[in-house]
Amino acid sequence: MKLPVVTSWYEPRRLGDRLWLITEPHVHPIFSANMHLVLGRDADLLIDSGMGIAPLRPVVDGLRPDPDKPVICLSTHTHVDHIGAAHEFETRLVHPVEADELASPSPYSLRRADLSAALQEMFVEAGYDALWEYLVDAVPSADYDLDAYAIPPAPATGFVEDGDVIDLGDWRAEVLHLPGHSPGQLGLWHAESHTLFGGDAVYDGPLIYDGPGMSIKDYAATLKRLRDMPIHTVHGGHDPAFDGVWLQAIIKDYLERWDMT
Ligand SMILES: [Zn+2]
Ligand SMILES: [Zn+2]
Repeated sequence: MKLPVVTSWYEPRRLGDRLWLITEPHVHPIFSANMHLVLGRDADLLIDSGMGIAPLRPVVDGLRPDPDKPVICLSTHTHVDHIGAAHEFETRLVHPVEADELASPSPYSLRRADLSAALQEMFVEAGYDALWEYLVDAVPSADYDLDAYAIPPAPATGFVEDGDVIDLGDWRAEVLHLPGHSPGQLGLWHAESHTLFGGDAVYDGPLIYDGPGMSIKDYAATLKRLRDMPIHTVHGGHDPAFDGVWLQAIIKDYLERWDMT
């Protein structure tokens, strides 16, 4: 099967004066994660780095007013759709319990047939559409080899844990440890604007809580913690941003589903 070639793999969208959202529209919704770029005075911050199917750094640098400024790449967790281009950045942060995965990522394939039936079933049961033959519906260049897909090692250069602060000079956010979807799942809390960068702890789509390394018990505790925070805006690891009212509805829905209210 021959997939169409697209010249711009990433789609950047400005969300605010200092905030960009970058997506990969040609990746199946299950694996199409959000990347957020926060522009700071002393450094910029990239939250997650997608699938790593096409070079991301030139796109990120193209959005930065000063590409010579340091850029920090924070991986909210180490699932394939969040760490693909982490190796392109010199400063790489992750929670310590997921350090090994970032340093030597598990092999992954872009072919549906290579993914376990259990994994595919889990996504469909969670509410996603079935996967396509490939995880993508296009390629970034005519000579792109779908079978050569691999995530390069990107050993962390630093670790962050609950309560740490990411400081860009004029923008500070607190690191939240939000386990459940993954053991080292991180979120970022920008208190000044009541904004949560939730990673895969919470987004406006089917939450995934039933796979390897996941824990409903931890996830419920995470959602209860978020329930009690004065959050006005959520930028999740997938899907468009939403407000605090919708966040409460999502949390209620899942806690009821799990019978853990
Ligand atoms: Zn994800
Ligand atoms: Zn994930």
